[in-house]
Amino acid sequence: MSDEALIVLENVNKWFGPLHVLNDVSLSVARGEVVVVIGPSGSGKSTLCRSINRLEPINSGTITFDGKPLPAEGKALARLRSEVGMVFQSFNLFAHKTILQNVMLGPIKVRKEKSVEVRERAMSLLDRVGIGNQAEKYPAQLSGGQQQRVAIARALAMQPKALLFDEPTSALDPEMVGEVLDVMTSLAREGMTMVVVTHEMGFARHAANRVVFMADGQLVEQAAPAEFFANPKSDRAKDFLSKIL
Ligand code: ADP
Ligand code: MG
Repeated sequence: MSDEALIVLENVNKWFGPLHVLNDVSLSVARGEVVVVIGPSGSGKSTLCRSINRLEPINSGTITFDGKPLPAEGKALARLRSEVGMVFQSFNLFAHKTILQNVMLGPIKVRKEKSVEVRERAMSLLDRVGIGNQAEKYPAQLSGGQQQRVAIARALAMQPKALLFDEPTSALDPEMVGEVLDVMTSLAREGMTMVVVTHEMGFARHAANRVVFMADGQLVEQAAPAEFFANPKSDRAKDFLSKIL
């Protein structure tokens, strides 16, 4: 495995019509690193996340993943999407499929893996996120926190090189936030490369290697969590922290 960063964005710009949503963003994420992205609503955090697995094409600049520029289409793009898992605020599970089927679907359909092998891996992932005993249920029979843990198992079933999380706990009732953050924290400790957009500052403090603060499409400041929370440098970061802490 090489030392080069796994995810590298250089001078990335993205517009939605006249709106400059990513303004010259440069960021690199090392293998095994956990980067938490914070910032006000509308600052471009989701767009940044989505640009990394090319759910959003960018207008200028470059993004490389594992040493290669992001592919624009076809099989290479499908491979990229399987290597960069994404977990959204809304869990997006298939309602008419069981929990186990939800986790098995990607590896079978996209990666053409054998069902026996995928089943074994899916069951062990469901155990790992604490849902092993619910495998035959349907999503609606599970709580929000359980469904989000299934969504994480589903992303892991593709054996991704990195995981992107876009506000994974924002849609959850407060009592379910902890169980999802616990799964994410253990993934972080096991060395998964993660980019996490979240308002959970406890997670940022304890699980992140680096905090990146965005405002108005710009990456305003980045630092180790202890440094960032103790000593934010920009006025915008100070203002943001004063409102949420
Ligand atoms: P955040 O995740 O930080 O709240 P987003 O990346 O979702 O920010 O959005 C950044 C800006 O881009 C916002 O002003 C938002 O309204 C706008 N935006 C996001 N997606 C689209 C889209 N598909 N079309 C037009 N504008 C968009
Ligand atoms: Mg967002």
